[in-house]
Amino acid sequence: MGEKHVLSHPVDLSVYECDAETLDSSKPDLVVLPATTEELSEVVKLAHASKIPVVARGAGTGLSGGATCVRGGISLVLTRMNRVLFVSPEESCALVQVGATNVSVSQAASRYNLYFAPDPSSQTASTVGGNVAENAGGPHTLKYGMTTHHVLGLKVVLADGQIVTVGGVSRTSNDLDLAGIIVGSEGTLAIATEAVLKLIPKSDKTETLLAYFPSVGQAGQAVSDIVAHGVIPAAMEMIDNLTLNAVEDNSSLGLDRNAAALLIVELDGQASAIAAERKLVESCLVNNGILSSIWARDGEERATIWKARKTAFGALGRIAPHGYVLDGVIPRSKLAEAIDGIEEIGRRNKVTVANVYHAGDGNLHPCMLYHRDDEQEVVRVMRAGKEILLLCVKLGGTLSGEHGIGIEKMEEMPMVFSEDDLELMGKVKQCFDPDLVLNPGKMFPHLKGCGESGRTLLRHKIFSHC
Ligand SMILES: Cc1cc2nc3c(=O)[nH]c(=O)nc-3n(C[C@H](O)[C@H](O)[C@H](O)COP(=O)(O)OP(=O)(O)OC[C@H]3O[C@@H](n4cnc5c(N)ncnc54)[C@H](O)[C@@H]3O)c2cc1C
Repeated sequence: MGEKHVLSHPVDLSVYECDAETLDSSKPDLVVLPATTEELSEVVKLAHASKIPVVARGAGTGLSGGATCVRGGISLVLTRMNRVLFVSPEESCALVQVGATNVSVSQAASRYNLYFAPDPSSQTASTVGGNVAENAGGPHTLKYGMTTHHVLGLKVVLADGQIVTVGGVSRTSNDLDLAGIIVGSEGTLAIATEAVLKLIPKSDKTETLLAYFPSVGQAGQAVSDIVAHGVIPAAMEMIDNLTLNAVEDNSSLGLDRNAAALLIVELDGQASAIAAERKLVESCLVNNGILSSIWARDGEERATIWKARKTAFGALGRIAPHGYVLDGVIPRSKLAEAIDGIEEIGRRNKVTVANVYHAGDGNLHPCMLYHRDDEQEVVRVMRAGKEILLLCVKLGGTLSGEHGIGIEKMEEMPMVFSEDDLELMGKVKQCFDPDLVLNPGKMFPHLKGCGESGRTLLRHKIFSHC
């Protein structure tokens, strides 16, 4: 591959020591950047022969430590394989190399009036491979589904280096859905190198509303009411007062700094249907004590509204240098209860928590703001994180809506999955990767074993697992 694409200098390795979950870090022994599926396959064959861990990596924007090499080994970076190879308007699909960014797929499809629906807020940086591995969502997941609903087929490299293709353009119902098993498996079953992605037509019309509320609870109730009235908006996103003010400090969008919550509702579809939905949405907002609202009049105003949401995490960097973003899910009807509980956990642990929510599908992103050099604060942040996840589970929710399990939530898996569930998942893993070379030490608590951990992560030290 040439020296340029095989990195071993400690300074180079440190660039790859973690993803966007910066609480945990562990350097790889080697970073390799292949340009083709065949090159990647050769690397995996060599690693397999020597039982060296291989961890696939896209843009490293993951938020659960998925791309961190907890047991060292090879960080296999796919960003050189970044081409959208082909867009087919006839089949409404695209063939892409997985190192392509999410947004580049929609950009390539745009001239056919098509787009790739999953739209994580990280879409200008995160790769299709990372989206596939984490089963990424985004604001528009509420109506259009997760990445898994838009992957038709994959070319993958298996743990022993074999190249196989699963799924494809044509719909079949008589085989095991192997692409379905690999999507969301966080690089633990196979490494994807190409993907056939479903594209959908752009809507006739889109209407976007920005609304302010006097309390987060009232905004949450409005979200529940909108869905209960039979309206499924394309997106319903919310940020709290702390986040709103950070965004305003950052971008001067003219937001109402006094509002407790900012809610974005986007409707799309045919003009006649949208007109009826607008009335229902407005009545739900009024019934829940809305302070004020504005419908975007054109594309420019729509972009400004979305800027308030899509720049939220970056803007929080103004408050503290580090942020730990959680990803718990709760039933939508429990939004107000969850929000009160998160506030109480933050207060008790003396941790500043800013809240960003995919409110429509009950996916919460409390972001704990901290200074990494303050050890006591780090301990409190990790403890509060565990308590918030437990709260989500107690409210009938689950650990992750879109960021995956990675290292971050591995220990919590038994809170939501029974022994039998975990054993079955372990059997699937063993079937794909009997020597545990692909992204070991992630997702499957049963397959870990403290003695095997190799390198000690900060969370292991703090919670004394080993
Ligand atoms: C500011 C910000 C906003 C975000 N917003 C969202 C959001 O709205 N929705 C959302 O879902 N996520 C969001 N994320 C999280 C993150 O962007 C997603 O998880 C994304 O899918 C990761 O893509 P990546 O290319 O960065 O993958 P990486 O972080 O490099 O890797 C993620 C995981 O995928 C595996 N992997 C990577 N490539 C492959 C491959 N080719 N084959 C097999 N496994 C592979 C890795 O081993 C790792 O386990 C956000 C992150 C940030 C920093």
